[in-house]
Amino acid sequence: MIEIRGLVKRYGARLAVAGIDLVVPRGRIFGLLGHNGAGKSTTIGCLLGHLFPDGGALRVGGVDALAERRRALARVGAIFETPAFYDYLSGYRNLRIFAECTAPVSDARLMEVAGIVGLADRIRDRVGKYSHGMRQRLALGQALLPDPELLIVDEPTDGLDPEGIHEIRSLLLRLNREHGLTLLLSSHLLSEVELLCTDIAVMREGRVLYSGPMADLPRTEGWIVLRADPPGRAADLLLGRGWLEERRGEDRFRLRAGVSVADAVGAAVADGLRVEAAHPIEMTLEEFYLQTVHGGGDA
Ligand code: ATP
Repeated sequence: MIEIRGLVKRYGARLAVAGIDLVVPRGRIFGLLGHNGAGKSTTIGCLLGHLFPDGGALRVGGVDALAERRRALARVGAIFETPAFYDYLSGYRNLRIFAECTAPVSDARLMEVAGIVGLADRIRDRVGKYSHGMRQRLALGQALLPDPELLIVDEPTDGLDPEGIHEIRSLLLRLNREHGLTLLLSSHLLSEVELLCTDIAVMREGRVLYSGPMADLPRTEGWIVLRADPPGRAADLLLGRGWLEERRGEDRFRLRAGVSVADAVGAAVADGLRVEAAHPIEMTLEEFYLQTVHGGGDA
């Protein structure tokens, strides 16, 4: 759906995006992660044609977004920077005005979108009376008006309370699963990304350090829990076999490459230990992210 090759963007002498490659496959929910200033917004700005890159190629839906911007973005909806609404007008009038400024839509489509974002009952109310979560859903509605196949959202849950975050997450998941939209979002809320995204890219200082499906994240790095009775014997056993690389506390071990949990359990049982728990330790997305960002190195 999106193909970015060798994207470079400078602001004067500052290199904001340093020749990145990124591929967002169709039908995925792709999270762009990175500290402040990593280059996420600049990348999205280039994609949306708000910024002109200094180098590289961008394709959206197979269309060259630099040569044919209008055609490439025809089926793209976006919430980029805080959307502004007229507080004294209704949600309906706001959507209508937006549609008149961009691409005209039928009344039926407008009401359909109000229903999708859960605002059908309140669409005639003044936006000034909307909660922050409702405004965010109206912004999503605005982005959905042209019936996009790709939705690009900068910080979708920024500033929302837990209920608002849950509503937006459910809505984004529904848009992906039921309406088939591909989503590209940037977020600092890693717990949300963990619940929402199928793929991530981690950026730092204008570079992509990691990019890939969530399911493929290298999260275990050989650490396991092996809790056995009598305590302490498991460590001696693993050490004796030359399988132990590192140890944390009584029952957390990093095994030598190629040694599995099953190997460790088998050896413990054969040695007469009673195994109470044994499983690999998965890093949370936050741990993986921090390790990637602070560990350095390019993917
Ligand atoms: P955030 O999470 O804070 O939005 P980001 O990952 O989106 O950060 P960018 O906003 O893309 O990062 O910024 C990348 C780099 O470019 C930063 O060093 C930033 O200071 C710089 N930068 C961004 N916009 C401009 C601008 N208009 N003029 C000059 N430098 C800019």
